[in-house]
Amino acid sequence: MAPITKLEAVIQCKCPRCRQGNIFSGKMYSFSFKGQITNEYCPHCNLRFEREPGFFYVAMFISYAMNVAEMISASVATYVLGLPLVYDNLWYYVGILLLTVFICSPFNYRYSRVILLHWLTPGLGYIPGSGDDPANFIKSA
Ligand SMILES: [Zn+2]
Repeated sequence: MAPITKLEAVIQCKCPRCRQGNIFSGKMYSFSFKGQITNEYCPHCNLRFEREPGFFYVAMFISYAMNVAEMISASVATYVLGLPLVYDNLWYYVGILLLTVFICSPFNYRYSRVILLHWLTPGLGYIPGSGDDPANFIKSA
């Protein structure tokens, strides 16, 4: 199997070390109660995704930045599409922003963790061929 690029690995939510195992199980948008779950270990190379206790709290800050960007984009789009920015339309804007946050929250949950793992974790990089031989699993820290 040809290796995929880092950007492809980010878009497909693949492991940052082997770029083959999935970080999540379950679909991004589903009505199941299980929803999307972050795998504890990479199913291909056995990398432990939660690098240390509380590791994914940092993803919360990334998610916050993504939320702000999405809310600004939604506000500008609403204005450009013709809803005047006057006091009478305040609750329309609030509703649109809340709807945007609600719709984007599964996306933000998933990609904030992927961004954290791929770009903001020092010492975690792509190792070609890692996990190809299960007998040589690299032990996770
Ligand atoms: Zn992996």
